[in-house]
Amino acid sequence: MMELSDYLESRTGEAIKTLDELVRIPTQVPPGENYGKIMDFVAGKLRDLDFEVEIIHMPRDLFEKKNPRLSHLQGERVNLSAKKNLQAEKTLLINTHLDVVPASGNWSVQPFEVTRKDGHIFGRGVADSKGGVAALLTVLSAMRELNIKPKYNLNIALTTDEEMGPYSGLCYLADLGKLKADYFLSMDGDSDDITIASNGNVDWQVDVSGKSYHSGSSFLGVNAIEKSVPVMSELLELKAKIEKRRSKVPASVAISKKTGIKTLMPVLNITVINAGVKQNIVPDRCTMKGDRRYIPEEKFEDVCREMNDAVARVKEKHDINLKMSCDDIYAPMLTDMNHPWILEVKRVAEEVAGREVRFAGAQGSLDVAYAVRVTGLPACCFGLGRRTESNAHAEDENIWIEDLVMYTKFLARLMGG
Ligand SMILES: [Zn+2]
Repeated sequence: MMELSDYLESRTGEAIKTLDELVRIPTQVPPGENYGKIMDFVAGKLRDLDFEVEIIHMPRDLFEKKNPRLSHLQGERVNLSAKKNLQAEKTLLINTHLDVVPASGNWSVQPFEVTRKDGHIFGRGVADSKGGVAALLTVLSAMRELNIKPKYNLNIALTTDEEMGPYSGLCYLADLGKLKADYFLSMDGDSDDITIASNGNVDWQVDVSGKSYHSGSSFLGVNAIEKSVPVMSELLELKAKIEKRRSKVPASVAISKKTGIKTLMPVLNITVINAGVKQNIVPDRCTMKGDRRYIPEEKFEDVCREMNDAVARVKEKHDINLKMSCDDIYAPMLTDMNHPWILEVKRVAEEVAGREVRFAGAQGSLDVAYAVRVTGLPACCFGLGRRTESNAHAEDENIWIEDLVMYTKFLARLMGG
């Protein structure tokens, strides 16, 4: 019998063809297009491989309730859950998302079809994260042809709205109880390192109220913009304090190389300011918004208390009329680096990549963290793009063809081929 690894080399063309078919269904979000079409396409492939497939729509009212700022987005929010019971002892959950960010900017190739060039494949979503799905479908069909049975029961969750959040299809499947398994592999990541942790995310907002007046007699009004300045200074002082903290979790290789920062760190950002109508009107309202990314060692309650305390101090001192709110967007994730499943993923990744692949934390926040909070599963993310080369979320997104082959071998070995 031919070895699966060699066989997968001979199936590279098929993997690229499947990837092309996925890329040609443009699933950009916002607004979230063609979700039903891409899920039908993948469902057909998985049914041919004897999976029990369920297409799951997130109800419109739930989508709007959980994503209040996105309720203007039309289109069905469609997800897929596919299961195959192989009478194995343990079940492996494999997940990634099939939505992509829009393809604006100056692409040198057509974004919504695959172009092969110089050992690369170009197209929107090839790295983030349709490439993983193409690899998975190729491996499953190759294993069946060679009559190799995966050593786990398989639970495949392919979801949407990851690129937008906060409440993505994966969060919904977690709440529905569709993610039952023993181990969890997310293909949504890159191949630079294995992501075992991520920062949590709090969105904050401060509304400063004043009193509008004719600017010629501005001393009779209360200028909400001017009142916001000390609030911002206080937040910047807090930022300096917070950003000295460090997690125990190693930072990604890319970040360490670029900045010398060795571990995950928290950040506080002011990212939006809205105020003012016209030069000659004293503004009666100033809204500031931002986010606070917190490390796994920090707690949501403490993060909010710290922000509230800072704002309360400045409110008192400068007699400012303001309101502050903190929204829990994503929890942090932290998987035990010594868990046997995580060590197994690392061993297999290093074997196929032929180099050391370290554990690392993500500065950003993941919908995987939500699923982990609900299921308690040991989880990690390993994908096939390269962080500094693949241009995920930018123009000319690409992967190496050799990485696509590497990734099919990774999945095959992990599943026991
Ligand atoms: Zn992604």
